[in-house]
Amino acid sequence: MKPILNSNQQWKTCLTPEQYKILREKGTEAAFTGKYYNHHEKGTYTCAGCGEPLFASDAKFDSGTGWPSFFKPMKKESVKEESDNKLFMKRTEVLCAKCQGHLGHVFNDGPNPTGQRYCINSAALGFKKK
Ligand SMILES: [Zn+2]
Repeated sequence: MKPILNSNQQWKTCLTPEQYKILREKGTEAAFTGKYYNHHEKGTYTCAGCGEPLFASDAKFDSGTGWPSFFKPMKKESVKEESDNKLFMKRTEVLCAKCQGHLGHVFNDGPNPTGQRYCINSAALGFKKK
């Protein structure tokens, strides 16, 4: 996969301020405010930065957290996981492997079959209807 290496200035021209804050500055949208936490259509969630397909609607579940939650990415290699020790909590950050955009975090309290919960910001996602 060919990585996308835009400058911050380039990202500013193609992302909304909300998307920029999340994807490039590792922000977090407020719970229950994003457009996809309560979204139930069938299709594919893509990276808002580069359009890479990241999560299938079949892997989405209602976590009750107010953020879109998935139990697995479409392909393991589409996302990158890095340990994040900010806020004095040990968390695992989830990034888009193609454009290095910040998506959210992954936790080990998800449902079967993986036991994982990818907690993703709506602003980091796009959606392609099936
Ligand atoms: Zn991306």
